[in-house]
Amino acid sequence: MQNAKRDVIAAIATAPGRGGVGIVRISGANLSTFPFQISGINPIPRHAHFVKFLDDTGEIIDEGILLYFPGPHSFTGEDVIELQGHGGPIVLNMLLVRCLQLGARLAEPGEFTLRAYLNDKLDLAQAESVADLIDASSEQAVKSAMRSLTGEFSNQIEILVAGLIDLRMLVEATLDFPEEEIEFLQSAKAFDRLANICQQVSQVEQSAKQGSLLRDGISVVLIGQPNVGKSSLLNRLAGEEVAIVSAVAGTTRDTVRETIQINGVPIHIVDTAGLRDTEDEVELIGIQRTWRAIEQASLALLLVDAKHGVTSVEDTIIAKLPANLPLYTLHNKIDLECPEKLAGDIYVSAKLGTGIAELKSLLLSVAGWQTEMSSVFLARERHLNAIRLAKHHLECAIEVQANSLELLAEDLRLAQFALASISGGFSADDLLGEIFSRFCIGK
Ligand code: GDP
Ligand code: ZN
Repeated sequence: MQNAKRDVIAAIATAPGRGGVGIVRISGANLSTFPFQISGINPIPRHAHFVKFLDDTGEIIDEGILLYFPGPHSFTGEDVIELQGHGGPIVLNMLLVRCLQLGARLAEPGEFTLRAYLNDKLDLAQAESVADLIDASSEQAVKSAMRSLTGEFSNQIEILVAGLIDLRMLVEATLDFPEEEIEFLQSAKAFDRLANICQQVSQVEQSAKQGSLLRDGISVVLIGQPNVGKSSLLNRLAGEEVAIVSAVAGTTRDTVRETIQINGVPIHIVDTAGLRDTEDEVELIGIQRTWRAIEQASLALLLVDAKHGVTSVEDTIIAKLPANLPLYTLHNKIDLECPEKLAGDIYVSAKLGTGIAELKSLLLSVAGWQTEMSSVFLARERHLNAIRLAKHHLECAIEVQANSLELLAEDLRLAQFALASISGGFSADDLLGEIFSRFCIGK
């Protein structure tokens, strides 16, 4: 994929369906004659031109704005043209077909961003944040994705990589002069610098963990009999944010999972209500899926009516849960009847909102969310793994210190490579394919 053919690609960049304006985007190495062919004018770069878009017979398809961004000053780094027409699916398709007639081919998902990456307009972490920004499910996630997109995350990583390169140069230089090596490294404060970098990597890890929570959230298994107040509790927890969640177009909702948000952290609720004995094949598939979700969950919440407490029905389900899954018992409807409180249990009234704030902080703290943390980057599992790997090698480096300079040099090298993979320094083609194929078309 590194040698991607720089042929002309085109796609409808706006969301499917009808809207006021719809955009067809075209990118290619040389599009200088393209605007004239589609509109009969030669545009001034980066100026908005009100034009008529014409088909091959000269008949008008639509009228709208044409923008021409000659490379390299464009999103992809190539020549880019935007046709802003009326936002109807048929008219946009006609515009797209016209582009194909003029030599473009349909862009693959994420191909515009891939070209931006290959032309050094964005690094890999920034390219990923483009998709994360589009997919963001809360305002906090948008802000964090934006911090990654503007390069704040990449810059921090770059600074660490630069520090590691300096250190490696020092250590590798001493390999050739074994007599003076230790004093040389000590006078250059090499080990202080190593400890310092390791500590900064830990900080970035914390921040990336938060970002990954914002992006992926946590799973909570909800156990509760009918009428104990599950729906009421979910609505209460979600508060006004639920409207935002359901407004996200294309949010996948299968029957066993419901997503609410607390402080912008997506909480995926896995409902065990459907976990009953059955012969029905469709239901069985659903039940299997529920169990798979349970295996990946962060905690289980057992919701009971405060009047009755835990009964044998709940006991049966609890017995089947993974032994290491933390379990909290939540007594609901304490406005009606409040039993003597057991330490470690939670007491709420979904109806009145009593105890809900405590429940929210419990969920967030189990998730590992630190409310005081500000500059969070919307990190992915891939980034976290790279940071963890780098940290591991740095810790090894600290351990061997001067005992073996060869090992020290090797650990520093591996740490540098791990960190650099975040911005794409040494990325394999299959990684790029994996990342960009998940984009939407036209981005
Ligand atoms: P689910 O079947 O577990 O989802 O339970 P629902 O959320 O549908 O609630 C069942 C009934 O209990 C409804 O009539 C709710 O209004 C009521 N309910 C839920 N939570 C409370 C509560 O905290 N206090 C009181 N008094 N009623 C509640
Ligand atoms: Zn319900």
